[in-house]
Amino acid sequence: MSVEFLTQPVHDVEGIGPARARVLSEAGMRTVGDLLAQVPRRYLDRSSVLRIRDVRVGATSVTVMGTVLMTGTVSGRGGRKRFEIVLEDEPGRRVKAVWFQGVAWMSKAIEKGHRLALHGKPARFGGTLSFSHPDFDRIDEDGPSIDTGRIIALYPGSATLQKAGLTSRTMRRILYKLLKDHGRKLRENLPESVVTSQGLLDGRVARRAIHFPRNADELARAIHRLKFEELFFFQLLLATSRSHRAQYPGAVIPGDGPLMHRFLREILPFQLTGAQSQALDAIGKDMGSGSQMNRLLQGDVGSGKTVVAVIAALMAIDAGYQVAIMAPTEILSDQHYRSVSRLLAPLGLHVGLLTGSTPAAERRELLAAVSEGTCQLLIGTHAVIQDGVDFCRLGLAVVDEQHRFGVLQRATLFDKGSRPHMLLMTATPIPRSLALTLYGDLHVSVMRERPPGRQPITTKVVRENDRDHVYAMMRHEIDQGRQCYVVYPLVEESEKLDLRDAVSGYEALSAVFADVRVELVHGRMKAAEKDAAMARFVSGEAPILVSTTVIEVGVDVPAATLMLIEHAERFGLSQLHQLRGRIGRGQYASQCFLMAEYKQSEESRRRLQAMEETDDGFRISEIDMELRGVGDFFGTQQSGLPAFRMADLMTDQDILDQARETAFRIIEEDPSLTAATYQPMKRWFEAFVLRRGMRLSRIG
Ligand code: ADP
Ligand code: MG
Repeated sequence: MSVEFLTQPVHDVEGIGPARARVLSEAGMRTVGDLLAQVPRRYLDRSSVLRIRDVRVGATSVTVMGTVLMTGTVSGRGGRKRFEIVLEDEPGRRVKAVWFQGVAWMSKAIEKGHRLALHGKPARFGGTLSFSHPDFDRIDEDGPSIDTGRIIALYPGSATLQKAGLTSRTMRRILYKLLKDHGRKLRENLPESVVTSQGLLDGRVARRAIHFPRNADELARAIHRLKFEELFFFQLLLATSRSHRAQYPGAVIPGDGPLMHRFLREILPFQLTGAQSQALDAIGKDMGSGSQMNRLLQGDVGSGKTVVAVIAALMAIDAGYQVAIMAPTEILSDQHYRSVSRLLAPLGLHVGLLTGSTPAAERRELLAAVSEGTCQLLIGTHAVIQDGVDFCRLGLAVVDEQHRFGVLQRATLFDKGSRPHMLLMTATPIPRSLALTLYGDLHVSVMRERPPGRQPITTKVVRENDRDHVYAMMRHEIDQGRQCYVVYPLVEESEKLDLRDAVSGYEALSAVFADVRVELVHGRMKAAEKDAAMARFVSGEAPILVSTTVIEVGVDVPAATLMLIEHAERFGLSQLHQLRGRIGRGQYASQCFLMAEYKQSEESRRRLQAMEETDDGFRISEIDMELRGVGDFFGTQQSGLPAFRMADLMTDQDILDQARETAFRIIEEDPSLTAATYQPMKRWFEAFVLRRGMRLSRIG
């Protein structure tokens, strides 16, 4: 059976002894399936190899191929050793290659007479064409050769793998033998109907062809097939999880009770925007439908998500249910608590705040009120629902700023609690393809519109010699009774330095603005001190707040009209946008200054330029993903987004659409996958997707 074969441990494979098995397992390859699922990092064929005579010095990487003429270990200045070789393809056409690392084992791995492919950026030193630290691959004597027109796969061999002898060449040999001897144990894991209707290459052929393609066309079809399969099984997971949840009835919340009406008529200080009303309509329909709501509310920073959550909460409370509102940080939970309880004060509801720093006695009392049902609205960090807080009648859970929560974490959350309606909110708008991947099991409301009367934010990149000007602008704002943020980066690797930077910045500002109160907030402060400082800024007592990125999400101070971001080149684009969203929240025009180094990388220059050009969060996300690639954009670990080996969410949208449509149709027609033709797919799904899913769900 295919599944059993693929789950065999690697040490059963010919050519892999205990030592190699250990190294492979450290590299994440424990089973035959892992070995076969490796994706070659590159392919080599005649057309991708340059003749040495045609190589020009430049910034692009090239591949050359030839025979090793000589090798040698050379001692350089300070006794530092390097390994050098000379490679020749045609008589007299030579390049040199030099490695400064791994000298000892490389001198054993490469010998005179070997046929090698080198891949790297060519340079010229003293007239000699040479490569520093090129990738190299031995390409001789392993069956089909590039010389006979074959396409050869190169594997992502790390130094450890290479040292254990697991070079690309060895890997090719192992895989070749494995597929030759056992390839017939592979099975097609997609239903015949899908393979045919999608015009896919057979799964068994694709698994062989990705490693040993017969020609470029077969390789392209293998890649397409495996991308489809990868996206298909993930969509199957989303479809299953959606259909699983649909089986559970949801609390029926009619959505037009007295509290909500009073709030809308007498308390709400402004008119809802069209986007807010639309989102609320959708939420009302969902919660009244009798099945469980899973809705994602996407809205740029400042689009007014909080009030939507509050009104949804009132619908639930009107129907006699309790509500939990969760935020990722204590500062945010606190802020929500303050603004929500102020807003709801006239209704006389019991609103509670529960975070890690709630004192024990208070916590006990609050938990009792929650389990008796007298506390109607509980606000807190994400721990609220996970800590097994025992609600009496939880009807709705709102999760704010929830872009860090993956599909499997959501599933876990759902299975744990009393299955309330779920409203997830995020200020990180993401392109459609990614939304489908991350949130494909959710219904989505998008709020593009912002509340009226917002003043625009002018954004300007400035340099150190503009500092006096920026301070003058700050002075001007403060004189008008307005407030300023000064933000410093804080990254873990350089935390100490960064903190010192923020602290000395704070001291410098305190001297420049000696007549007003300047506050400092950073993650290393005690919660109580932090809260007190924050509170003095929120109340307006302190016109300047110096902070590290703790203010990134959600803080709402309408009188803040100026933000100075120090070392702006060190921030990511989405982060800059989130930060900037802290200003421009009131009725005054706002300014954002991005203090940047004179010298910057091309990428950071483009980030800052994007900030100057637009404040549309959707556009910013797009640019950010273009600059960084999807993987980095969300960070697999944080988002719960699976690391796709093959598919690229930016470029493979078409395949994603097809995979999604197919998977959702199958689950709709046969939710438990009972049809005989679905059995191989089902076994595969259970063995590889659900299992991996469980691992993912433990992250974060
Ligand atoms: P976010 O979507 O970033 O969470 P908030 O909910 O914090 O945004 O709202 C930002 C600000 O806009 C708040 O001060 C809020 O009171 C205000 N606001 C929300 N909706 C409206 C509206 N319809 N009209 C005017 N102001 C609004
Ligand atoms: Mg918010």
